[in-house]
Amino acid sequence: MEVSTYHTHTNFSDGKNTHEEMLKKAIQLGMREYGFSDHAPMIFPCSWSMKQEDESAYKSIILELKERYKDQIKVYLGIEQDYYSTPASGYDYLIGSVHYIEKNGVYLPLDESPAKTRENVEKYYGGDALAYCEDYYKLVADLYNKTKCHIIGHLDLITKFNEIDPIIDTTHPRYIKAYKEAIEKLKSTPVIYEINTGAISRGYRKSPYPSDEMIDIIASQNKPFVICSDTHSTSTIDTNLESEKQRLKDKGYTYITALSDIL
Ligand SMILES: [Zn+2]
Ligand SMILES: [Zn+2]
Repeated sequence: MEVSTYHTHTNFSDGKNTHEEMLKKAIQLGMREYGFSDHAPMIFPCSWSMKQEDESAYKSIILELKERYKDQIKVYLGIEQDYYSTPASGYDYLIGSVHYIEKNGVYLPLDESPAKTRENVEKYYGGDALAYCEDYYKLVADLYNKTKCHIIGHLDLITKFNEIDPIIDTTHPRYIKAYKEAIEKLKSTPVIYEINTGAISRGYRKSPYPSDEMIDIIASQNKPFVICSDTHSTSTIDTNLESEKQRLKDKGYTYITALSDIL
């Protein structure tokens, strides 16, 4: 297949499979490249991110696979760096993502469950879901500055549960202003954005991140997209990658098929 995926997880964070199982499946699918990007260790205790003490093993496993499979697939050593991750070094590339908002000294998870999201919006924002989104996009706007990431991960993750439990009015002028400001702030940086199909394979959404409106704005900045599956198991490595490639093609938008194009 023409497209690869660079947003992937293993059992070093919240994925189900080992590095080698994931890589073998990618080879079987005919991918020419593959990027590992487990969740980086966080600055606070977190059940689904990599543990600090596992990071050197994570790197050496990937470097060993990179060498061993080099005739079959090009492997990249990446990491998904959260706004609140410990600083990263020694990686081929970084995906910058926001999974938490720090509010009044508490780290609010954005993608835990619809019930948790409702509870947090009520408790910390007095029910103002748009204020919650405004705080989120301020962090997104600062992602490059904070992490020096190459790829912005799931740009509108804040809407993860909005199809099954709509609490955010994504047509509201305040919502639109918030994301437009983030995209505008990131415009002058070298970041590109991923089309992320992860929530589709997990049954939360019918459409990928980010929304069509955001995709149109980003495309107008002449930034290419990278299409990623944000996979957590061997069965979802290629979910919707080809159809998203076709969708971008039909719109006349550009995408990369080799990460070396942006590194
Ligand atoms: Zn993520
Ligand atoms: Zn991820």
